[in-house]
Amino acid sequence: MIRLKYFLVVVTLLLFFSCTPDPINITTVTGGISAKKLAKTLSHEHLLVDFIGADSISYDRWDRDAVAEKALPYLKQIRDLGYKTFVDATPAYLGRDPQLLKMLSEKSGIQILTNTGYYSLNEKYVPGFAFTESAEQLAARWIDEAQNGIEGTDVFPGFIKISVEPGPLTELNRKIVKAACITHRETGLTIMSHTGPALPAFQEIEILKQNGIHPSAFIWTHAQNENDFNKHLEAAKMGAYISFDNFKAADTTRYLDFILFMKKHGILHKVLLSHDAGWYDPEKPEGGEFRGFTDLDTYLVPALEKEGLAQFDLFQLFYGNPADAFMIRKRMLNPEEK
Ligand SMILES: [Zn+2]
Repeated sequence: MIRLKYFLVVVTLLLFFSCTPDPINITTVTGGISAKKLAKTLSHEHLLVDFIGADSISYDRWDRDAVAEKALPYLKQIRDLGYKTFVDATPAYLGRDPQLLKMLSEKSGIQILTNTGYYSLNEKYVPGFAFTESAEQLAARWIDEAQNGIEGTDVFPGFIKISVEPGPLTELNRKIVKAACITHRETGLTIMSHTGPALPAFQEIEILKQNGIHPSAFIWTHAQNENDFNKHLEAAKMGAYISFDNFKAADTTRYLDFILFMKKHGILHKVLLSHDAGWYDPEKPEGGEFRGFTDLDTYLVPALEKEGLAQFDLFQLFYGNPADAFMIRKRMLNPEEK
């Protein structure tokens, strides 16, 4: 009798979960999806970057059809490798073009995520008003994009992209990180920050905590520029995602060492991998040289398999971790963690 009851409870639960629609918790340039649908993902790449500077950038610096012609074969290559999603990390004032990304997503069948936020690594890429406005005012602009769409389009950001100096954070960097925190508190968008070494990474995590936000809302981007794996481990144990995202064939041994180190310490679920590759550069004839997005599958995955990494771990790196990192949800500190 007890067995029958148990059986009925299990069947009821299974029916309940199979009938419950998956929550929409990822925002792509073509609309909202469930994190389950993110599938195999490249978590940090670029389709177009324009380094002309915030005071000169405009959409008429490139022709969308010409960019599409150049970029599409590279998106088709990753589609053939089983990728479903491409996270485009180009921020506003550096060439973010929501309409271009939407067009490329529709033409390629690849889901693309874009972002809100500013790139304060170099003042050249920060719009003039950002120097005088407060963190609250900047956040209001980013929250507006998240709630109403980017610049009058029907494209919404799927995460927050900021950048800081590789040294100690400047006042401007601190304001940008604080604006990202305010935006996260309101929208639940993940904060991806171009960072590099450990020093600014831990300073940023500290600002998150001061603003009541759990480090799991933070992606330590370009973490490969920090040599000490123990720093990565420390940040990952706090909850941050550690993004080794500039993979090239020559980096195979180092990335392998890093992944095996994180695996050994049971924290592989905090690792993100990508190429930081691409991209169409409007400054160069026909967009210049375009670096493709296939090296991870060509070089690193076979090397990891050779080292005995389980398929489950590979699935975690390319499916599970991106889904968890970009899933929109407010990640606040518990009162006892403050
Ligand atoms: Zn990048």
